[in-house]
Amino acid sequence: MKTVDDLINEGVEGRTVLVRSDLNVPLDGDRITDDGRIRASLPTIQELSGAGAQVIIVAHLGRPKGGPQPEFSLAPVAARLGELLGAPVRIIELAKGTPDLAAGDVVLLENIRFDPRETSKNDDERAELAHELAELTGDDGAFVSDGFGVVHRKQASVYDVAQELPAYAGGLVLAEVEVAQRLTSEPQRPYAVVLGGSKVSDKLAVIEALLPKVDALLVGGGMCFTFLAAQGYGVGSSLLERDQIGTCRALLESGKIVLPSDVVVADAFAADAKTDTVAIDAIPDGWMGLDIGPASVAEFAEVLGRAKTVFWNGPMGVFELAPFAEGTRGVAQAIVDGDAFSVVGGGDSAAAVRALGLPEDGFSHISTGGGASLEYLEGKSLPGLVVLEQ
Ligand code: ADP
Ligand code: MG
Repeated sequence: MKTVDDLINEGVEGRTVLVRSDLNVPLDGDRITDDGRIRASLPTIQELSGAGAQVIIVAHLGRPKGGPQPEFSLAPVAARLGELLGAPVRIIELAKGTPDLAAGDVVLLENIRFDPRETSKNDDERAELAHELAELTGDDGAFVSDGFGVVHRKQASVYDVAQELPAYAGGLVLAEVEVAQRLTSEPQRPYAVVLGGSKVSDKLAVIEALLPKVDALLVGGGMCFTFLAAQGYGVGSSLLERDQIGTCRALLESGKIVLPSDVVVADAFAADAKTDTVAIDAIPDGWMGLDIGPASVAEFAEVLGRAKTVFWNGPMGVFELAPFAEGTRGVAQAIVDGDAFSVVGGGDSAAAVRALGLPEDGFSHISTGGGASLEYLEGKSLPGLVVLEQ
């Protein structure tokens, strides 16, 4: 796989380089609530621009349906990127053709998903868009793939464009792949994985792939209730995937899965709901578990304190609501306090770290790619990486 450093050694002065970044940040109106992905994308952009390349960034935001929709414009992202780079970043449009650029300039192409060919299942449609993207770079352009969060997608600006231009892996993609490799081949032991989030079914494949490799799998979040139900506990109105109970029961036979011993229950899914902390055999009918309890946090923290490798994906509770954030905070704090090689994966988990005010440098790595890291850990081949190896 050729890297962005190889490209710079070849010489980029005056060349136009298309960079696929993952700038898909959460927004509240046009306010960015977490700019982690933008900051993670800066080094590759700065490296290229500093070496004299003309940089065209390609990125998406949200899931616009079929065409341009102002609420999915990358304008707020361009503004933030400009602040961080210390120079304004202009938004350009594909339909307007090759922009006028000088060495070191950085521009951002408007949301690539405004073009339905980006995510088309039809190879020819995607190839056509990829060709148009490549044409933006003129005669001696290049493509740098740096959007780790999208490398598991066979999309025009991720996969097809890498067949149109000389393609290189960006620094962020390289770093993410190195971390994922460290989690899958010969991790230092004890190796503890903490999984949470809402649905077991989303994470089943990664549980199955990781279970043989880990020493302990700590389960919290909404998904713990399907495991608890598999052990015969009543879970009230908690999130429950009945069709997964059998699978959970089989997974429990590994003896490596650690479930919470207490939970914070609420009479409604709301910040002002009535709440209580109960043992897992005492969840009242009609109440729902929205966080793991303090005894569970202490038990999880004990395992995490001994671990030498930790991977955490998925919040332990509904951390977006203050009364149900303590489980996530406690587990995150235990990881920060420990000295393991620690990786946070998953968009919501990374957002939780920042929203709860935990030090980002307390973790060895905070991944920018939720789905992509999970698929990597599952052992799947990721189209956006495979194409860079060809
Ligand atoms: P990530 O993006 O880190 O992979 P997920 O998307 O799988 O995480 O899950 C995040 C969501 O899970 C959060 O929005 C959180 O509110 C929700 N969640 C966590 N615990 C519970 C629970 N007990 N009941 C319902 N939802 C939960
Ligand atoms: Mg999520």
